[in-house]
Amino acid sequence: MRVAVVGAGYAGMAAAMTLAESGIPVTVFESSKTLGGRARGIKYKGVILDNGQHILLGCYVETLALIEKTCDVEKPFVRMPLALDIDHFSMRALPLPPPLDLLFGLLFSKGLALSAKLGAIRFLALTKILKLEKDMAVAALLELYGQKKQAVDCLWEPLCVSALNTPIAKASAKVFLAVLKDGLNGRGSDIVLPDVDLSSLFPNGAAKIILKKGGSILTSTAVSAARKTDEGFELMTENGSHIFSHLILATAPQHAKKLARNFPDVEIPDFAYQPIVTIYSRYPEQVRLPKKMIGASQGLAHWFFDRGDGLIAAVISAEGKHVGLSQAELASRIQAETKKIVPDLPLPLWQKVVHEKRATFSCDVDVRRPERMTSVPDLYLAGDYTAGSYPATLEGAVASGLACARMIAETI
Ligand SMILES: Cc1cc2nc3c(=O)[nH]c(=O)nc-3n(C[C@H](O)[C@H](O)[C@H](O)COP(=O)(O)OP(=O)(O)OC[C@H]3O[C@@H](n4cnc5c(N)ncnc54)[C@H](O)[C@@H]3O)c2cc1C
Repeated sequence: MRVAVVGAGYAGMAAAMTLAESGIPVTVFESSKTLGGRARGIKYKGVILDNGQHILLGCYVETLALIEKTCDVEKPFVRMPLALDIDHFSMRALPLPPPLDLLFGLLFSKGLALSAKLGAIRFLALTKILKLEKDMAVAALLELYGQKKQAVDCLWEPLCVSALNTPIAKASAKVFLAVLKDGLNGRGSDIVLPDVDLSSLFPNGAAKIILKKGGSILTSTAVSAARKTDEGFELMTENGSHIFSHLILATAPQHAKKLARNFPDVEIPDFAYQPIVTIYSRYPEQVRLPKKMIGASQGLAHWFFDRGDGLIAAVISAEGKHVGLSQAELASRIQAETKKIVPDLPLPLWQKVVHEKRATFSCDVDVRRPERMTSVPDLYLAGDYTAGSYPATLEGAVASGLACARMIAETI
């Protein structure tokens, strides 16, 4: 048994590490020099940034467990009870057993009219039991449950756009409800902010374990094609071809589709995609945001993050009014928006705009997602787009990788 994993994102690395730990020989092929895929560290002006600021939630149990296990930094992330500060709206999860922590948090929140607040509490409590027969857009669901515009603007829309990376007019209510339900359980709504770059957060540590267990990781090695032969799966790379008994395609869907072209029964839908833009601004180190994470609903940026030492990351999720703006325009608009939060903000020392055009699949109503076990024996799909209750997230990616590894381990 020899397993090939194509793609060293969070899905591929979770799969490969689990296989290696089960004593199964595994080889990871990664086209890039860096591990992490859409969640990776990038070097800029001597600092390691990320290809995009990421937020994890307390309900990302599989991802957090893998980080704890693999990351050799003592405190790889900051975990805090949910605190939302979006324009004039402000809420804190209270130190109460769930779901009372959030329901009372909302009751004592500031910035919502009483009717909007009570409506939001009723809806949040209902999400625990709400089951939709038919999927619909999040906007339609909120309307159906009488959510006031103020609650939509300050609470539901920012939560939906950051969790699903899809505008509420298109986003799947079923997936949104799944995320809200998990957030209501335990400390599922905790905000977890990485304190190290995203490659160091998990993939680099996972790589060490894979190598220690005898596995291989071939970076800068793109797989150009895959096919089934009598000996097994043959993978073509610039350095020749390789044969494996099992294959996990752990790439983004558009790449998996190309790699699966010799397997006509493996159907990978043509997804629509959503962008995410992160604008990093470096200021003198005394410049701070009043909170580690601040939301906004009126401008381009949805969230601002204080990364410490004068580094501020502004995130614009999903499609919207920023599409078509140049990098220079984005940078100057973000400077103006940050100045509204920090009135004596100086000019930045530098800014770096990272535009991920296909950050995630668009988590639309009734979006079709392929199963991880394919109809071709021993061929699996891992990745944030595969069938699962989560939208395109680190947790969805990790869960898919773990599931593929477990399915293979069970065949021994
Ligand atoms: C800017 C941005 C912000 C985000 N914010 C959040 C967030 O706050 N919270 C959250 O949970 N999620 C967030 N996400 C989503 C999250 O990053 C992804 O869901 C997750 O990283 C996907 O992991 P994956 O392993 O499925 O795929 P990928 O990370 O895409 O990994 C696939 C890998 O396959 C490699 N590959 C592709 N083709 C080949 C080939 N032919 N041969 C070899 N290798 C190949 C690629 O180089 C890549 O490394 C964000 C994503 C982006 C881009």
